[in-house]
Amino acid sequence: ATPTAVMVATGKGASQGVLIKGGDALEKAHTVKTVVFDKTGTLTVGKPQVVSAVLFSSFSMEEFCDLATAAEANSEHPIAKAVVDHAKRFRHKIGSSPDHIPDVKDFQVHTGAGVTGKVGERVVLVGNRRLMRTSEITLVPEVEKYIFENEELARTCVLVAIDGKMAGAFAVTDPVKPEAQRVITFLRSMGITSIMVTGDNRATAAAIARDVGIDYFFAETSPVGKADKIKDLQGKGVIVAMVGDGINDSPALVAADVGMAIGAGTNVAIEAADIVLIKSNLEDVVTAIDLSRQTIARIR
Ligand code: ADP
Ligand code: MG
Repeated sequence: ATPTAVMVATGKGASQGVLIKGGDALEKAHTVKTVVFDKTGTLTVGKPQVVSAVLFSSFSMEEFCDLATAAEANSEHPIAKAVVDHAKRFRHKIGSSPDHIPDVKDFQVHTGAGVTGKVGERVVLVGNRRLMRTSEITLVPEVEKYIFENEELARTCVLVAIDGKMAGAFAVTDPVKPEAQRVITFLRSMGITSIMVTGDNRATAAAIARDVGIDYFFAETSPVGKADKIKDLQGKGVIVAMVGDGINDSPALVAADVGMAIGAGTNVAIEAADIVLIKSNLEDVVTAIDLSRQTIARIR
């Protein structure tokens, strides 16, 4: 496209909340055949809430919540916020002081798995099945049943082990954005395939994919793994757009032919992207591709 055509489209995009950083992305967007969507915060609202808490041990719910909160207090993951908020509400409900959080020592983030730390003399692990597996924590059938039942409902389970034993769990729900299914359907009508990639587990991912009408997904994918999926598609000659919001999406946003960041996402994702969807509305994936089609049509 000519510099003028690019300028016109960029201005038009800006007025619609689609920030286009360069002519390159604009020119490529109309040839996109596959859109890869991140799950958490992209297809979903990204504000997970704890909807159930269960004990698999003799800890009181109060002590269990306090230990989980202490371990999650320094984590920036949205799931950590959900756990901390839930514990706060629980303490409020039972009339206990709402801002007493014990300190954590040896705090560690395990990307795509959870967090660990020492709270007083207790060793606390909060995370998914993978974290429990690598820490050799046994999941008895009762725990497996809880996980299975919740993942079927598109919920993510947050497992908590204390001193080497499964102590309890939370189930977290993160609803899909109201426009998600409509956008996937519309993209399909444009001849564009949608794929989901997520660090979350397979069963939860399958339930979310089903809810929004996505046929292909990759679960338990690391940040580099997400970028590799993009490169695999490109290796087959497919022009790929990636839509994401997190730090963990930035390698994939860079690898994609067109990287689109959710406006409400992290700065790292916004910097890595070619296009920013300021309104954080998935409809604007279509707006961006449309702008590109119009621009190219005008000059040909
Ligand atoms: P996503 O691609 O869905 O944004 P992440 O790679 O950030 O996922 O995390 C993958 C999974 O790791 C989460 O679904 C969760 O099960 C687990 N996890 C990561 N961080 C935490 C945390 N702070 N507390 C509990 N679980 C966590
Ligand atoms: Mg995300």
